[in-house]
Amino acid sequence: MSIDRVQAGKSQDVMRGQRPRLNMYVDGNWIPAGDGSVHEIINPFNQEVLAMAPAGNREDAEKAIRAAREAFDTGPWPSLSGSERGRFLYRTAELIDRDHEQLAVLETLDTGKTLAESRSDMDDIADVFRYYAGMADKDGGELIDSPIKNSISRIVREPVGVCALITPWNYPLLQASWKLAPALAAGNTVILKPSEITPLTSLKIAELVEEAGIPKGVVNIVTGLGSVVGQTLAESCNVDLISFTGGGVTGRKIMRAASINFKKIALELGGKNPNVIFADADFDTAVDYALNAVYFHAGQVCSAGARLIVEESLHDQFVASLVERVKNIRLGSGMDDETEMGPLISAEHREKVETFVKIGLKEGAKLLTGGKRPEQEELSRGFFFEPTVFDECSPDMRIVQEETFGPILTVETFRTEEEAIRLANDSVYGLAGAVWTQNMNRAERVSRSLRLGTVWINDYHPYFPQAPWGGYKQSGIGRELGKTGLEEYTEQKHIFQNINPQPMNWFGKNRERVEET
Ligand code: NAD
Repeated sequence: MSIDRVQAGKSQDVMRGQRPRLNMYVDGNWIPAGDGSVHEIINPFNQEVLAMAPAGNREDAEKAIRAAREAFDTGPWPSLSGSERGRFLYRTAELIDRDHEQLAVLETLDTGKTLAESRSDMDDIADVFRYYAGMADKDGGELIDSPIKNSISRIVREPVGVCALITPWNYPLLQASWKLAPALAAGNTVILKPSEITPLTSLKIAELVEEAGIPKGVVNIVTGLGSVVGQTLAESCNVDLISFTGGGVTGRKIMRAASINFKKIALELGGKNPNVIFADADFDTAVDYALNAVYFHAGQVCSAGARLIVEESLHDQFVASLVERVKNIRLGSGMDDETEMGPLISAEHREKVETFVKIGLKEGAKLLTGGKRPEQEELSRGFFFEPTVFDECSPDMRIVQEETFGPILTVETFRTEEEAIRLANDSVYGLAGAVWTQNMNRAERVSRSLRLGTVWINDYHPYFPQAPWGGYKQSGIGRELGKTGLEEYTEQKHIFQNINPQPMNWFGKNRERVEET
């Protein structure tokens, strides 16, 4: 085992509570930030320091870009066959399965989400690697019917080049896997910049990628601030594509910076997602799923069903039943099997959520439960916030329109199908949402009328590698997952071959010879 591998093994030390000084992974080496700076990585459950991660600077980001450029321009990776690249990805998936529990624990320590949620994330992550491993050798190009005689016309897909992958803190490794796996399957080289708040599993995946034998320089992980490392990646003329998941404010900055060399751009942004309940819905299931929709990971989910839109005749019964269950939600450590909801990610984020509660009250929404920090002493060190329900909401309220990214549910009512559709679509976002009814004609009509990238009928939240994920309107540009998720990382090339070339004599023709004939 090389010295580098020993240094990489520090994710084990996080598990042992040793607060290690972690390194980042650039050009196949495990290195600290060039100037030695570090960030403390905090456990949001108790504010304990889990580890020190390198606070990379511009030079560190540029070093990683050079490594990825070199690996793309001269390395073997882009010219390997799809099957060969697929084998590396299958191997990575096996290693994710092997280290499943360690990865899940790291994710829970870093984000505060329950271990059950982290374990489910790790299953999905391994599946994403397997899905794109299988896709890597499926596209043999396409022959097209050329309108020109004696010719062969082919369309092939090729990697885009150096890809910068920037991820948020709510699903650190899941979001990274949606980018890493297709980017690598297509033959690109990458620089992954995880959120500065939650880099642990992204650094761990670098260990697995290295162990899987992916050549040096193909995958680089640089930790550090978005305004420094992320901005450098977005601005660089040596980066060909940027794929970003995060908030709209950052998305705009990235779009502006990316215009410098017109790099390809994919943006997965926020959502304020409607969950529409008709009176004929299966009552108990719809109540149960309304809770899942909004309170997974304490509402810090881009697709959270934060806007409950319920038929007026069902409202009182539905909301009473829902609130009764909300009051029973058990807050606690993500590591405790009994916990149903963990803390918010940071003190700063909790303050933002609290501000939204004040805004909701001022706007006249009726607070039915929650709206404050829990009082239990054992939760006092964590960034906890009670699951909250606001009733009597209307679309003109900021609490209904803006992404709170916390455990806050707003309730609106409707009388007709048209009104339900109008309320659901009344948003600048268009990521995902659900409709609950036993009338399948109505389910079809409503799902086709919703301006959303994903619509669930009588369900909430399922996503899988085979189906595309992304948003309409201000929820983003492009799609991840599915076939499209791979195509995003490719350029299309048209190769035209004349199989019987003859002079055309359009220019500078020899007139004597032309006249003689
Ligand atoms: P964020 O925009 O604050 O940060 C996301 C990433 O961007 C981080 O790695 C950050 O360091 C980096 N960054 C910050 N400034 C940058 C800059 N100037 N240039 C380049 N990179 C920069 O988002 P967040 O708070 O980490 O995540 C929450 C947001 O992510 C929510 O809005 C949520 O809806 C969204 N999200 C969307 C999806 C989706 O699939 N659509 C999935 C998860 C999260």
